[in-house]
Amino acid sequence: MKREVLQSDLEKLYTAGDMAKVGCRGCAGCWDCCQGMGGSVLLDPLDVWRLEKGLEKDFPALMQLCLELGAVDGVVLPHLRMEGGEERCVFLNAENRCAVHAHRPGFCRMFPLGRYYQNGSFRYFLQHQECRMEPKTKVKVEKWLDMPNLKRYEACILKWHDLLEQMQDIFSSDEDGQLSKDLNVYLLEHFYAQPCDERDCYEQFEERVEQMEKLMRICAKNT
Ligand code: SF4
Ligand code: SF4
Repeated sequence: MKREVLQSDLEKLYTAGDMAKVGCRGCAGCWDCCQGMGGSVLLDPLDVWRLEKGLEKDFPALMQLCLELGAVDGVVLPHLRMEGGEERCVFLNAENRCAVHAHRPGFCRMFPLGRYYQNGSFRYFLQHQECRMEPKTKVKVEKWLDMPNLKRYEACILKWHDLLEQMQDIFSSDEDGQLSKDLNVYLLEHFYAQPCDERDCYEQFEERVEQMEKLMRICAKNT
């Protein structure tokens, strides 16, 4: 999805094998990025499946517990719910630590890194203004992300990004908005409401992307 990015942050881009200055002493005494984030902590299907397994809850239960839906560039996606006057993430516990650390979404794993998509690929960049903890230490990006089978995960993230861009292309020529509505419903049903079974989640994700891309090719021909 397209976000506001500071040009100065893009001067240095990182791959998973690079070292980046992100280490912030275990976030001791800080929880800035776990509150006041509005609807910006978007969850991709892999994030939702990880939470479903970790918390032993299905998608409707997660919607009640911690998620809300919001539209980003016309695409309806779930994001983490922030609550109360301070807009705290629902998973921020009384000790101001993440109660779902092992199952936290990709956005939380990356922060303060972001993804910059370019030429059919992406690299990471450091959002210098977003985390004020100093001094920071250098950490290998793959260690910071702490994601099993990172190469496979990154390939899925790229496919997800491409899929959402294809949806936006279709939306831009959908005059009465009906197709956009139908595709948004399909996306939520197909990727989120339908749980991941015991097979490899990356494999299931890729299958569902292929199915949706096939559907969108048919839609694009008919618009
Ligand atoms: S803003 Fe930085 S130090 Fe604070 S919780 Fe987030 S990553 Fe940790
Ligand atoms: S899921 Fe955890 S790391 Fe992510 S915003 Fe909520 S409390 Fe913070």
